[in-house]
Amino acid sequence: MIVETSNDQWIIVLDKGQKLMSTLTEIASEKNILGGHIVGIGALEKVELGAFHLDDKDYIRKTFDDAEYELISLNGNVTQKDGKPFIHAHSALGREDFTMFGGHLFEATVAVTAEIYVTPFGIMPERQFNEAIGLATIQHCPIKA
Ligand code: ZN
Repeated sequence: MIVETSNDQWIIVLDKGQKLMSTLTEIASEKNILGGHIVGIGALEKVELGAFHLDDKDYIRKTFDDAEYELISLNGNVTQKDGKPFIHAHSALGREDFTMFGGHLFEATVAVTAEIYVTPFGIMPERQFNEAIGLATIQHCPIKA
């Protein structure tokens, strides 16, 4: 379910089984959201997280697929990369014993529901590859036409 509020914000409710990052990217593309703040809560499973290793200019990746985890906090943004929406998000996840872990979110499957709120920036930040660190970072922030 996707709802645009009167305040130019979006409430996106994803169902069990949907891929979080790829679905959000598809919605951003469909709705032409090229800049905005993303926050959310819910529950996830099959979560692939990353921790960036600057010396290697690459992520250490790990998949957590042995349980369903509370999505305590999804925090990120949608920007544009090569003219298309690009979502950069980090997540804090909780286990049944109430311990937490988290990191850069590559992908996850919605385990119960995911309630995501997107607030457009009103600008369209552009990412370009930054050779010094090995990532596409925000380098320009053109005003939305
Ligand atoms: Zn990150």
